[in-house]
Amino acid sequence: MNVDELRVSAFTIPTEEPESDGTLTWEATTVVVAEATAGDTTGLGFTYGAKACATLIDEKLGGTVVGHDAMDVPGAWSRMVAEVRNLGRPGIASHAIAAVDTALWDLKARLLEMPLFRLLGAVRDEVPVYGSGGFCSYSEQRLADQLGGWVHDQGIPRVKMKIAAGWGEDPGRDIKRVTLAREAIGSGAELMVDANGGYTRKQAVAMARELAPLGVTWFEEPVSSDDLDGLSEIRGLTELEIAAGEYGYDSWYFRRMAPHVDVLQPDVSRCMGITEWLRCAAVAASFNLEVSAHCAQSLHAHPACAVPNLRHLEYFHDHNRVDRILFDGVLEPHGGVLRPDPGRPGMGLELKRADAERYREI
Ligand SMILES: [Mg+2]
Repeated sequence: MNVDELRVSAFTIPTEEPESDGTLTWEATTVVVAEATAGDTTGLGFTYGAKACATLIDEKLGGTVVGHDAMDVPGAWSRMVAEVRNLGRPGIASHAIAAVDTALWDLKARLLEMPLFRLLGAVRDEVPVYGSGGFCSYSEQRLADQLGGWVHDQGIPRVKMKIAAGWGEDPGRDIKRVTLAREAIGSGAELMVDANGGYTRKQAVAMARELAPLGVTWFEEPVSSDDLDGLSEIRGLTELEIAAGEYGYDSWYFRRMAPHVDVLQPDVSRCMGITEWLRCAAVAASFNLEVSAHCAQSLHAHPACAVPNLRHLEYFHDHNRVDRILFDGVLEPHGGVLRPDPGRPGMGLELKRADAERYREI
């Protein structure tokens, strides 16, 4: 059975309030949705990206996928990758391929009437998550409520917060907020921090020395992810784990980064979808590293079941909120894990068309 049609739409949903991390401020999230149909079955995939992904899917990717065997997802993936060669594959093009690739995997699983994690070959049937948010823009109260809520109300035993805002004006702010977060979650929960590349090497080393006594275990992007030597240098000077990888668009990227970090963070919605994400995890395994899936929890829940060297999945506040607005079937964490529904075919998600309409851009 061949793919008959590929439809694309884009929805932009404002955040509750302007949000920021160490190096970026944002006020909305755009979700580009791809729907691939074969016969009377439709697969749903998406990416969090720019509206330009939708244009690219329409103009370039649709023609390579329609008419292709719906059972042969890596074949369709290879045609998409070949099609964008001269456009520049990292960035927008990789996001766009991710939306279509995830739709094609969902379609295949639905055609076979099985949950996607079974089709991919599951090594587990539930995925450990950590609560992720704690934005630099939050008040101290909101920060404490959010992180404490995940631990005490939802039973998620690990959380991550953003740091590295305003170092120049108030270098003590980050440590004050991390101390507050530790008080809010208690001594038993794991506390991770993400600087989004906001420090210099010297600042990051100084921060690591202050974070360790607060029981922080994970220091994400202490310096820019482009500074691989810097990541290595900081890694050698602290017992905190150094994590990075959210801007990786292909397995080559993770091969280059792997010698410099403790954990890799591939993102299925950026690195060309499930087809390449599984390869990125395999590259990590070849360096004896675990992967932690970066955000996009609704897309990661199934493929994360198929990766032996998975640490956990980032349960990101913004994506949880946006996914619940747009989709039915969004998974709820229980006891610190997401458990894909074995009774629903594919990824188990349905687009809530009527609810989504007011956010439509394309
Ligand atoms: Mg991050």
